[in-house]
Amino acid sequence: MELLLATGNAHKVAELRAMLEPLGVTVLTPSDVGGLPEVEEDGDTFEANAAKKAVSAARHAGRWALADDSGLCVDALGGAPGIHSARYAGTHGDDAGNNAKLLRELAEVPDAERGGAFVCALVLADPAGAVVATFEERTHGRILHAEEGEGGFGYDPLFLFTEPDLPQTGRCFATLAQDEKAAVSHRGRALRALAEALPQLQER
Ligand code: IMP
Repeated sequence: MELLLATGNAHKVAELRAMLEPLGVTVLTPSDVGGLPEVEEDGDTFEANAAKKAVSAARHAGRWALADDSGLCVDALGGAPGIHSARYAGTHGDDAGNNAKLLRELAEVPDAERGGAFVCALVLADPAGAVVATFEERTHGRILHAEEGEGGFGYDPLFLFTEPDLPQTGRCFATLAQDEKAAVSHRGRALRALAEALPQLQER
């Protein structure tokens, strides 16, 4: 199967590609289809924004398309930055600015109240642009007081994974190898749910 990833985020492409190719899926990126139209991410939920991106890409390219909308929801901030995660500090994709703002917002917040979750909505659209499946998963953790590690992207250097009984517990996401992160991440979990359903979905 060929699947067009409706994202320009190179980090997301790398993570999704590493998970999809072992399943026999040929991954296409926007540049493989001559680029994709800009989509305004004005939905109220991760799912709504992922659906907009998947449908637009599928219709434009006439191919199966997969879109990811994801972000970090922090309990002490009422779920912020949430769907605004990519542009929390004002400029889309300014990871350093976003992390600095998150640290400022949580400056007075003690460890016990720094919990939150990464959320990932994956939406699969068929070549006609119909949504055929949605998967939403989360990963729980705590926001650190300073950045750690060199790996990952986005808020990874501030995200301490806290789910018990998993080898990654107590580790900062930016210190994990790509496969260690994929084993527990919101994106990895959503993608495994998709991979399980994919054979039936294609037959519809
Ligand atoms: P989107 O491209 O609109 O879905 O924005 C996603 C944003 O959420 C990214 O720019 C990151 O700031 C954040 N994010 C999503 N997934 C991750 C992750 O796995 N690690 C770190 N940050 C993430």
